[in-house]
Amino acid sequence: MILAGPPAAQALLDEARTRAAALPRRPELHVIRLGEDPASVSYVSLKEKKALEVGLGSTVHALPSATSQAELLSLIERLNADPAVSGLLVQLPLPASIDSERVLNAISPEKDVDGFHPVNVGRLWTGAAALPPCTPAGVVRLLDYYGLPVAGQRVVIVGRSNIVGKPLAALLLARDATVTIAHSRTPDLAALTREADMVVAAAGSPHLITAEMIRPGAVVIDVGVNRVGQTKSGKAKLAGDVHPEVAEVAAALTPVPGGVGPMTVAHLIMNTVLAAERLQAGEQPSEPVEVELLA
Ligand code: NAD
Repeated sequence: MILAGPPAAQALLDEARTRAAALPRRPELHVIRLGEDPASVSYVSLKEKKALEVGLGSTVHALPSATSQAELLSLIERLNADPAVSGLLVQLPLPASIDSERVLNAISPEKDVDGFHPVNVGRLWTGAAALPPCTPAGVVRLLDYYGLPVAGQRVVIVGRSNIVGKPLAALLLARDATVTIAHSRTPDLAALTREADMVVAAAGSPHLITAEMIRPGAVVIDVGVNRVGQTKSGKAKLAGDVHPEVAEVAAALTPVPGGVGPMTVAHLIMNTVLAAERLQAGEQPSEPVEVELLA
């Protein structure tokens, strides 16, 4: 079975539309973008398009790349305090002159629709109400849409990043999966993946997962998006982390493109609605806390 993203993403967007319409005030997504990097411009316009499509408000703060960190932090502070703003994100990457971690930590956790703030990460791991990161939450929604069970499954996630691998492990653990996280230093990756009922590839390595690494009948989710050249018309040619031959052994596989990708933006819209629901029910945006890991 091919697990196509678009119908599952549409179901999520439809749910977001219905829940938004039930709120006293329209949820508002604010996106801050610095500079004119073409990929960032196109990601941000896709987010805006999807927000508008389901009846949310959308504001893009397009600032010059020379914007100082202090100016950026003061805009974030103003948007944190503005009750009309439900969700706020800063499009990455930021120019090297800016401390990205400091900027992301300045966003109020209640409006942090990317789910990257350490307070949301902590809430996610402790099972408290968190805004989850969009790609892993989108993967869970995709599994739900296709009726694929998670509880009791042995899942191997290949990749331990803060935006995909680790938060996905937290979400699947909360659904009673038995989760193993593999990474670039894992010896004999194939021995692990062959034991799994479900393999999630989020390594950023084209065609890393081959057919002999998959147990026949396993479910395979391909999060990878790798540019592997150009098409004749000059568009980027994309490959996932999973070799297409895996379709012959897996019970179900997500395509790239058109699998997990559409779920990510749909979940960003859902997070904006979730944030609006909580804020409009009277939850106060908390002061962002400075979090530092001690070396
Ligand atoms: P990352 O570079 O931050 O992390 C990659 C992880 O994979 C690391 O933990 C690394 O240890 C592991 N890894 C790398 N090579 C490996 C190997 N050969 N064997 C085992 N583990 C290996 O990447 P990321 O930000 O988590 O993104 C992962 C992939 O997912 C990328 O292709 C990215 O483009 C894609 N992605 C897609 C979406 C989407 O919406 N579809 C969203 C985010 C990321």
